[in-house]
Amino acid sequence: MIDSWQSDWTRGKTGRSIHNIFPQVKLRLTDWRREDFLFFTGHGPFAHSLFRFRLKPTPFCACGKEGTPLHYITECDLTESWHITKPAANLKDLWFRRVAGNPHSRAKVRQVIKHMLKTRTSFSRTSITSVKTSSSSAYQSDKQSALSSHLLHSKPMPSSNIPRY
Ligand SMILES: [Zn+2]
Repeated sequence: MIDSWQSDWTRGKTGRSIHNIFPQVKLRLTDWRREDFLFFTGHGPFAHSLFRFRLKPTPFCACGKEGTPLHYITECDLTESWHITKPAANLKDLWFRRVAGNPHSRAKVRQVIKHMLKTRTSFSRTSITSVKTSSSSAYQSDKQSALSSHLLHSKPMPSSNIPRY
């Protein structure tokens, strides 16, 4: 049973990020929560993933940058309260393993994902048109337009949930 799971796992095209983190199947995922899986599989509320599944018209975050999981946890203005230091480009795999193994980092990951699930519309460009009109340079990060877009799309929240800028 474990043998066939292991070989599916190794050959599988889905779940590569998880495979990077746990190259050998080990039953130590039991303390993982939904938010952890959403982040490490990349199948969460990220503009980049939603675009791949044709659920959003662009792969861009409301801030203008590409909305990958890494973007939200390391550099996005909209999730600044919970950032983790960005990995060097050639150390991404190692970075994901370290974050997965570090309870403090995973707590931040969970908070970002929870925040995103709660205020989902703030984290993706809602239409191609808004990309063209909301700033002079559509794909460049512009803190001011990201902030106003964030405010525009946000539903009222208790003040404790509003990220600090
Ligand atoms: Zn962003």
